Amino acid sequence: MARRDGLDAVVVGGGPNGLAAGIALARAGRAVRIIEGAPTVGGGCRSAELTLPGFLHDVCSAVHPLGRASPFFSQLPLERLGLRWIEGDAELAHPLDDRAVIVERNLPATAARLGDDAKAYVDLVGGAVRDWDVILRELIRPFHIPLDPHALGVAMRFGLKALRPATALARRFRTPAARAVLAGCAAHSMLSLSEPLTGAFGLIFLASAHAAGWPIAAGGSERITDALAARFTELGGEIVTGRSIRSLAELPRSRAVLLDLSPTGVVDVAEHRLRVSRGGATYLRRLRRFRYGPGVFKIDLALDGPIPWRDPEVLRAPTVHLGGTFEEIAAAEAEVAGGRVPERPFVLLAQPSLFDPSRAPAGRHTAWAYCHVPNGSTADMSDRIIRQIERFAPSVRDRILAVAKRAPADIERYDPNYVGGDIGGGRADIRQFFTRPVMRLDPYSTPDPGIFICSASTPPGAGVHGLCGWYAARSALDGVLRV
Ligand SMILES: Cc1cc2nc3c(=O)[nH]c(=O)nc-3n(C[C@H](O)[C@H](O)[C@H](O)COP(=O)(O)OP(=O)(O)OC[C@H]3O[C@@H](n4cnc5c(N)ncnc54)[C@H](O)[C@@H]3O)c2cc1C
Repeated sequence: MARRDGLDAVVVGGGPNGLAAGIALARAGRAVRIIEGAPTVGGGCRSAELTLPGFLHDVCSAVHPLGRASPFFSQLPLERLGLRWIEGDAELAHPLDDRAVIVERNLPATAARLGDDAKAYVDLVGGAVRDWDVILRELIRPFHIPLDPHALGVAMRFGLKALRPATALARRFRTPAARAVLAGCAAHSMLSLSEPLTGAFGLIFLASAHAAGWPIAAGGSERITDALAARFTELGGEIVTGRSIRSLAELPRSRAVLLDLSPTGVVDVAEHRLRVSRGGATYLRRLRRFRYGPGVFKIDLALDGPIPWRDPEVLRAPTVHLGGTFEEIAAAEAEVAGGRVPERPFVLLAQPSLFDPSRAPAGRHTAWAYCHVPNGSTADMSDRIIRQIERFAPSVRDRILAVAKRAPADIERYDPNYVGGDIGGGRADIRQFFTRPVMRLDPYSTPDPGIFICSASTPPGAGVHGLCGWYAARSALDGVLRV
């Protein structure tokens, strides 16, 4: 399509979704500028030396099942632009007090290790692994009822399990090992495991381990967003950094504005325009009622060797879930949901330098770990996180050279989209999951036909996959940017 003079679209915020939106629009021949508040683009997908020189840490995202699987990223030449995925020998390790449970890419091999629950595991997860492509295409997207009978069948079979709480799915298992693995994956929801829909998180994370893998990016997560930014500029897009936008009135004229912002950020910058749109007052009222989820407290460790796990099998996987049994993890998440700080939190840990030597000086290592806390919590969780590592690696403290800590307020200061430290872009419970940020046929649109939301607060939600940006760009291209 022939370009007009001036800009077609401005994207505010250069996180993975802002970059994805920019690419989708530029690829359709539109003139696009991304304006980012921080000194570099990348949002929650950047890397930095947070502890000691030579130790490269992922500031936010570290492990990327949905990045690898993303139907949008897979259309882009990201490998040519410097992205290389690295997978471990296994996808996930979940140590228990006697031994570690290992989730491998191979479904039967993983099931075989679960003894009495081998069949129950395949019964629970196997269908989603088999139907993974349909789930990605039809379910990890804005809510809709598939027209194709096969896709509809998949959605119904998956939905019957996925809508249930993880506590209900766990009843299918008899062994602590299988129940614990399910709990760790379901706890990515940041909800109490007795809430509906936590089963969906358990199923999606387990199915993605077998169908796509849980890779890290060679050279740090920022290589993903560096590659996206390179693709965007290659397509003719412009990037401006270091310009935090307080009001849309500061933006250059364009036909569309796409906001890679949380609902709070959208209200801050766009209230004056939304208020005068038809239905704008109601829309703003609903945006203000948007509910955020728990926050996270994160630590990064510089280590003088690998974590000395009691069960060396844990060294096979880049991702480790720490928290013990289903009951212990459920109790920790219930505490957080109740607004309390857990004494023994569920901890998500990544050990990227075991698989990517570029992350630390020779022989040294890095670890990335966080736990859930109530939104905005000021509790220092660093010792509690290290104690959970110590439970399964008793001499880990002797290996620690330096610790960098980030409380929810630090995370929000780093990137204002993480309101109160909520890394999920909003509470992902059943009341809000399908209707975020506001119940609308097209969730990316707003009452102003020139304003769209493209952040992780829109479907399909959190994670580095670019799908929110891609779908928001499609909404703009079907609307105000059609010609
Ligand atoms: C600690 C942590 C761990 C995580 N771990 C993982 C993981 O392992 N795997 C995974 O897939 N995901 C993970 N995530 C989630 C993932 O990072 C996010 O879901 C993803 O980055 C969302 O992308 P986005 O583009 O919607 O928003 P963001 O990445 O938050 O980007 C928004 C951008 O907008 C900019 N911005 C905000 N306000 C303004 C303004 N007013 N003017 C200009 N610019 C503005 C911000 O600076 C930022 O660059 C993690 C997040 C955190 C914080």
